[in-house]
Amino acid sequence: MSTASVIIIGAGISGISAAQVLVEKGVEDVLILEATERIGGRIRKEEFGDVPVELGAGWIAGVGGKESNPVWELASRFNLRTCFSDYTNARFNIYDRSGQIFPIGIAADSYKKAVDSAISKLKSLECAAGQVAEEEAPSSPKTPIELAIDFILHDFEMAEVEPISTYVDFGEREFLVADERGYECLLYKMAEDFLFTSHGNILDNRLKLNQRWKTEAIQKCDVMVYTKIFLKFPHCFWPCGPGQEFFIYAHEQRGYFTFWQHMENAYPGSNILVVTLTNEQSKRVEAQSDQETLKEAMTVLRDMFGSNIPYATDILVPRWWNNRFQRGSYSNYPMISDNKLLQNIKAPVGRIFFTGEHTSEKFSGYVHGGYLAGMETSKSLLEEMKQSLLLQPLLAFTESLTLTQQQTQTPNSQIYTNVNFISGRS
Ligand SMILES: Cc1cc2nc3c(=O)[nH]c(=O)nc-3n(C[C@H](O)[C@H](O)[C@H](O)COP(=O)(O)OP(=O)(O)OC[C@H]3O[C@@H](n4cnc5c(N)ncnc54)[C@H](O)[C@@H]3O)c2cc1C
Repeated sequence: MSTASVIIIGAGISGISAAQVLVEKGVEDVLILEATERIGGRIRKEEFGDVPVELGAGWIAGVGGKESNPVWELASRFNLRTCFSDYTNARFNIYDRSGQIFPIGIAADSYKKAVDSAISKLKSLECAAGQVAEEEAPSSPKTPIELAIDFILHDFEMAEVEPISTYVDFGEREFLVADERGYECLLYKMAEDFLFTSHGNILDNRLKLNQRWKTEAIQKCDVMVYTKIFLKFPHCFWPCGPGQEFFIYAHEQRGYFTFWQHMENAYPGSNILVVTLTNEQSKRVEAQSDQETLKEAMTVLRDMFGSNIPYATDILVPRWWNNRFQRGSYSNYPMISDNKLLQNIKAPVGRIFFTGEHTSEKFSGYVHGGYLAGMETSKSLLEEMKQSLLLQPLLAFTESLTLTQQQTQTPNSQIYTNVNFISGRS
């Protein structure tokens, strides 16, 4: 294809959902340029220890609320296998360095303290600089258990300002994707609706893989690094009963191999543990060999479960920070920022439109954020195309504002050329 009305850069969830909307609206001659050899971006499955593990997005977050999460709808439509994740018990499975579980009372007190500290920190941020008296400053977490809970509350999952639209709109429940086809199969299934596919492969020449587009980094929006490290063992040695899917390690160093999950609920008999590291800890392990990381993880596990546990037989360490097409895991807007920052990031430059999870006003950071952003940006772009058409005196474009296939194929279609479209953070 030598010309295209719309070029989409990047085939993550937002690029694919954007393309889907355009094709549905009659703009058939789209061209999707993807830097890597696959579609999916930060939704990525890999085989590890005989099961498919999700290196990127793993959960459908926000289910069971007043509105329906569109990604949950996609998952239902394509029979994606998921299992409910119950985080509420994690705070009662906190191990100290000698393998003892903290009593429930201490865990609950530390949790309350971390929440109170976060609230007063937020209040102090909201006050104008200098207004907060020194003695009102919130006390920082110090002990290993306080550090562990503070990490869970702020770095692990909830690094967002309440109320979190995902949970308010779509519900509090989260489901872990546990499907042989991987979370990414949703994108392949969506693509089947508008691209030519055969036996699960996309054969349509409107998708070009391994195509890189010159990009400029968007500096102000911080990007969180979130690393799931998978460890395979010859057998299970951790508790697997109800309420024990997640457990926490309390260490003097904040975020040091703190949050653990076993995969027996998703894949019984897989004997896989996942530990989540974030930001500086993620960057640190990305820079060292996997064997060094494995050694550290084993020391932590031996602290919790004793020295007789077996050594892991395999380890998988995703490197989202060093991936030049990602440079991190998901956007993390400053705690206190007005809407202007986001508007500036997503504002079109001439005919270049920007989309991706980071351009979603309510759901940045999530799969559904990327999905809805792609659709929304396509709609803005269609509007722009209509306006351009209306400004062309030679074009008889009067009756309907809906673009049809015939209209996109008019000889004047070069007016669409260079209407480019950028998805994903680049
Ligand atoms: C470890 C991790 C855990 C996560 N957990 C969850 C979760 O549990 N639930 C959830 O909802 N979300 C989660 N997310 C976030 C979710 O994965 C993202 O919000 C979403 O997938 C982003 O989609 P996107 O289309 O905006 O961007 P991307 O998926 O990043 O797509 C952008 C695409 O553009 C391509 N590209 C980049 N540069 C160029 C270039 N120069 N030229 C051509 N192509 C280029 C990339 O290769 C990529 O395919 C997680 C992310 C990570 C990394």
